Amino acid sequence: MRASITGGDALIVVDVQSDFTPGGALAAPDGDKVVPPLNEYITHFHRAELPIAASRDWHPEDHMSFEGEGGPWPPHCLQGSQGAEYHPDLELPADTHHVKKGRDADEEDYSAFEGGPDLDAFLQDNDVERVFVGGLTTEYCVKNTAQDALDHGYDVFLLMDAFKPVDPDDGEQAIAHLLEQGAIGLTFDDLVL
Ligand SMILES: [Zn+2]
Repeated sequence: MRASITGGDALIVVDVQSDFTPGGALAAPDGDKVVPPLNEYITHFHRAELPIAASRDWHPEDHMSFEGEGGPWPPHCLQGSQGAEYHPDLELPADTHHVKKGRDADEEDYSAFEGGPDLDAFLQDNDVERVFVGGLTTEYCVKNTAQDALDHGYDVFLLMDAFKPVDPDDGEQAIAHLLEQGAIGLTFDDLVL
C-alpha cells in the first residue's frame, strides 16, 4: 500500500546491534542487510523532522535469557560491550530517542516499550499516532515491539524490507499474526516521498 509520511508518524528501529548481525554472539542470518534500507527510512524521517526511536538489548552478565541462567540464548548484548553497540553502519541522527531494555537480570524485555527511557511517553510527547517498525529480529523484538504498539493504540506499519528473523518460518508466522491484527506491511518503494 502507498503511504505518505506526515506529522504524527514516528520510526522505531529495533535492536540493530552488532551481536544480532553476522559475526555477533546471536546473529540473525543476513541481519546486517537491514541496515541499508533502515538508513533510507532514517534519512527520510529525519528530513521530515519526525521522531526516531532506537532500542538496544542491554544485558547484565547474569541475564535470565542466557543459557548459563537457564535461558534460551548465548550471552549477548552485554552492557558496555562492542556487541551491544548499534551496527557500525547504522546512521542514527543525534536527536534519536535511545531505549535500553533487558537491563535487569530478571527482566527479558523483548519489546522496546518495556525499556527506558519510556518509549510510549516519548511517542506521546511527540503526538505520534502511527509508528513504522523495523529491525532485529523479526519474531522476537520486532514482533513484541509491534504488538505492544498495537496494544497501546498506535497504527503500526511493518517495514517489510527492513527486518530479519532468526528462523524464517517463525518470522513469517510473526508477521502474519501482526498483519491479522491490523498492522500494515510496506516497503520503502511504497512511501510517497
Ligand atoms: Zn537479549
